[in-house]
Amino acid sequence: MFEHITPYAGDPIFALVDAFNRDSRPHKVNLSIGIYFDEQGRLPVLRCVQEAERRILAEGGAKPYLPMEGDATCRAEVAKLLLGEQHPAIGQGRVATIQTVGSSGGLKVGADFLRTWLPDRAVWVSDPTWDNHRSMFEGSGFAVHSYPYYDATTGGLRFEDMLACLKGLPPRSIVLLHACCHNPTGVDLAPVQWDRLIPVLRERELLPYLDLAYQGFGDGIDEDAYAVRALAASGLTFFVANSFSKSMSVYGERCGALSAICASPAEADLVMGQLRYTVRRIYSSPAIHAARLVAHVLGDADLRSMWEGELAQMRQRMVEVRQALHARLSALRPDRDLGFLLSQRGMFSYTGLSAEQVDRLREEHAVYLIRSGRLCVAGLTQGNVDRVAQALAQVV
Ligand code: PLP
Repeated sequence: MFEHITPYAGDPIFALVDAFNRDSRPHKVNLSIGIYFDEQGRLPVLRCVQEAERRILAEGGAKPYLPMEGDATCRAEVAKLLLGEQHPAIGQGRVATIQTVGSSGGLKVGADFLRTWLPDRAVWVSDPTWDNHRSMFEGSGFAVHSYPYYDATTGGLRFEDMLACLKGLPPRSIVLLHACCHNPTGVDLAPVQWDRLIPVLRERELLPYLDLAYQGFGDGIDEDAYAVRALAASGLTFFVANSFSKSMSVYGERCGALSAICASPAEADLVMGQLRYTVRRIYSSPAIHAARLVAHVLGDADLRSMWEGELAQMRQRMVEVRQALHARLSALRPDRDLGFLLSQRGMFSYTGLSAEQVDRLREEHAVYLIRSGRLCVAGLTQGNVDRVAQALAQVV
């Protein structure tokens, strides 16, 4: 029955993590997978999450199926987090938010929905983007193309080329945009650039699909939602898939959501109905523990401020290790312009290293990056940054 199937080569990032775990060198450093580790190199369990779990356990209660769209309190909190407490679109009933199985679940539900309702359109993703974007949309049956994004010569953004490309797209093309902390490059649009992009999206009648996987890891919770709020203010219809995996350090709990910000309450109702049906056909309904966690942390004033503080600490730590790496490497390699390490935001930096240089880092220095040259800043600590800088200085 299945002898003809092609073997799955495996996911390159998970394969690297396996290789890292098998590596017996005590000084090894994992800068490959997109996970936030603390200064001790541990995956943190946030205090706000521990406290929420204590309360959830104390409340007890049965574990029924959630509705297809997820838990109402969780969904309402997510909409406010994305758009801001008092956003008129929420009061007007123009926001259709569903709780999903991580933001991956949200991205995929959105992809399947769009494939049904905008069937002859294509999807445009940044060059480069998170590998799974292409796989997900192609898996839903879309042709996926890329628009210019990363500038390898400056370590910055090819903004004018990006705009020119988007200006040439057919109406209703779907444009996937990273709202902040771009994965894999760490290169983001500045607010003034969003302000120039949005009129193009509107004039060309494009459908923006935001991926907000790192809210709070860039400049702050509200600052990182700039694109969401500017799009909402422009009156455009758009999608946003958001995640709590990183911002609450709850990767395996699969906490995420998908929101459609629509032109009218009637349109939002239609979209919500078909999103529910899309969920029904895939996984039926999302996870109740995820819903309770998000609802408690976002909805309770004490837990909310605890979360905001812990998120700020994670963000600050990433800035500090970025600065430390920049300082150490600049001292070792004054011939190189390393300003990109400071200007790139969030969890990742694109180092510009070739696949061969990445292989040398791993084989000769036990420093693990993914072969595109993406470095996960959150794997750096004040304790390993010297060693990483020395290893980098030897291969660049
Ligand atoms: N989008 C981007 C850009 C990501 O980097 C990730 C995870 O690494 C995701 C989406 C998916 O996150 P999750 O499904 O854990 O919410």
